[in-house]
Amino acid sequence: MTIQVKNINKRFGDFVALNNVSLDFPQGELTALLGPSGCGKTTLLRCIAGLEHPDSGQVLLEGQDASRSHVRERQVGFVFQHYALFKHMTVFENVAFGLRVKPRSERPSEDQIRRKVKDLLELVQLDWLADRYPPQLSGGQRQRIALARALAVEPRVLLLDEPFGALDAKVRKELRRWLRRLHDELHVTSIFVTHDQEEALEVADQVVLMNKGNVEQIGAPDEVYNHPASPFVYGFLGNVNVFHGRVQDGILASGDASFTVPGEGGAAGKGTAYVRPHELEVDRYTPGAEGIVVKLRRAHAIGPLAQLDLERDDTNELIEAVIPNERFSSLGLKEGETLVVRPKRLRVFVDEGASI
Ligand code: ATP
Repeated sequence: MTIQVKNINKRFGDFVALNNVSLDFPQGELTALLGPSGCGKTTLLRCIAGLEHPDSGQVLLEGQDASRSHVRERQVGFVFQHYALFKHMTVFENVAFGLRVKPRSERPSEDQIRRKVKDLLELVQLDWLADRYPPQLSGGQRQRIALARALAVEPRVLLLDEPFGALDAKVRKELRRWLRRLHDELHVTSIFVTHDQEEALEVADQVVLMNKGNVEQIGAPDEVYNHPASPFVYGFLGNVNVFHGRVQDGILASGDASFTVPGEGGAAGKGTAYVRPHELEVDRYTPGAEGIVVKLRRAHAIGPLAQLDLERDDTNELIEAVIPNERFSSLGLKEGETLVVRPKRLRVFVDEGASI
């Protein structure tokens, strides 16, 4: 099912939780809502579910205005961070619950329920736990059961609010890969709330970056990572070096260094360059070499990549560079050594309003 939200606004008292949010969630895709705590992700999810009512704007399900329809009519399945399995029911009974409480006319027979629950437990690969009670399961197993329970009623939409948030890092990683495989099998239109950028980039077909109730950017994971639309998105999606300076005639002057600004036709003002650690080229310093002159403060060279903590000679600001470990070894660098770094790629945001 397709989901669209159009011009949704939601306030709590004076606080603007959602500010004129419009988004499309395509059929069968997995969308991640990503952003810092309090940016409005859960509020948006609750508006789509019908658990919260926007002050204005519309929620369209399959093109139909669902803004006034009840949660039950929207046919959504939920999974929350804090699994709400019924402790006194077995895993089997938990998954069967949604089917058993259906109105008599829609309720499947006991035989059909048994078959369906068995299929779902096989789907989440936990059929061997059918007779256990929730307290006898691990956190990851509980979340998979919660997902099976949400899927039992064949929702048209699956809404997941930080479903793996309470789990440790290793289990989280395993479960998100597993969720992606499951999604590829089922193709239920799904929305996944997370504040973990790695999780969003790995799992989703499209990523929605939210900040203070606004949508900052929407796009495929590689698009938002490689072409951030704003400084906020740059900073939120992974480590980034920030070089402050001023832009004039297509050149950003920052400390003793200057960079050609790509595609900034004539803009002048305060400029900020954003460069990811792996987008820096690192060389030994030679007199007159172009670039930013730095000292190597610390090198962390484990596995295929070497992470270098560098300090600018001109401003004492810290820079992080990531280069292949092979290159690091071949340069034979020592801590304290003077180096020069050059951005292979940079993005400059010019604030034309600010004085130079
Ligand atoms: P988190 O990652 O911490 O869950 P979030 O992005 O999901 O954050 P929301 O839960 O949508 O954020 O909340 C957005 C803002 O609205 C927060 O500042 C929150 O305090 C506020 N808020 C949410 N629900 C209510 C409510 N019922 N009453 C008052 N304020 C609320």
